Amino acid sequence: MWGGGRGGGGGWWGGAGGRRGGRGAAAGAADATLARLDAVFFGLSPRLGPIANWGLTIERRQIAVDTERFETSVPGIFAVGDVNTYPGKKKLILSGFHECALAAFAAATYVFPDKRIALQYTTTSPKLHKVLGVETPVFD
Ligand SMILES: Cc1cc2nc3c(=O)[nH]c(=O)nc-3n(C[C@H](O)[C@H](O)[C@H](O)COP(=O)(O)OP(=O)(O)OC[C@H]3O[C@@H](n4cnc5c(N)ncnc54)[C@H](O)[C@@H]3O)c2cc1C
Repeated sequence: MWGGGRGGGGGWWGGAGGRRGGRGAAAGAADATLARLDAVFFGLSPRLGPIANWGLTIERRQIAVDTERFETSVPGIFAVGDVNTYPGKKKLILSGFHECALAAFAAATYVFPDKRIALQYTTTSPKLHKVLGVETPVFD
C-alpha cells in the first residue's frame, strides 16, 4: 500500500495471498482480490498551522511539553500525541493515551481548582460505571 504517499493515492491493496504495491501484478487467482485503493493520508507529518502563532515553545516544528502534565509553555494549553515533543518521545498510539490521561488530570486542576481528583478504575468504580452508563459487575 502507501502508493502515492501522503496526500496521494492510487496504491494497490493485495488481498489473500496478493502482494502489495504491485500495480502491474500478473493476473491469477490471488490477484483477483486486488482492489484499487485511493487513500488520502493526514497526520503523518504533523503541521501546526495557526497553532504555530500561539506563542507556544516549538522545537523542530513540534510543541514542547513537560512530562508530568503535558502542558505547553503557555499555562492551560496542553498538547498530546504526535504533535508534542519531550525527551524520549516515541510517536506511538499508546504514548498518546498515556499523555492524554496525565493531561486530563492536569487540566482538571484548572476546572476544579479546589477539588482533589482521585484516580479511579473503570473496572471497579461504580461512579465511573454510572457516568459511562454501564452496570457495575457483581463478582461472587
Ligand atoms: C505508517 C504508520 C504506521 C504506524 N503504526 C503504528 C503502530 O503500529 N502502533 C502505534 O502505536 N503507532 C503507530 N503509528 C503511530 C501512530 O499512528 C501515531 O502515533 C498516532 O496516530 C498519533 O495520534 P495523534 O492523535 O497524535 O495524531 P494523528 O493520528 O496524526 O491525528 C491528528 C489529526 O488531526 C487532524 N488535524 C491536523 N491539523 C488539523 C487542523 N488544523 N484542524 C483540524 N484537524 C487537524 C489530522 O487530520 C488528524 O486526523 C504509525 C504511524 C504511521 C505513520
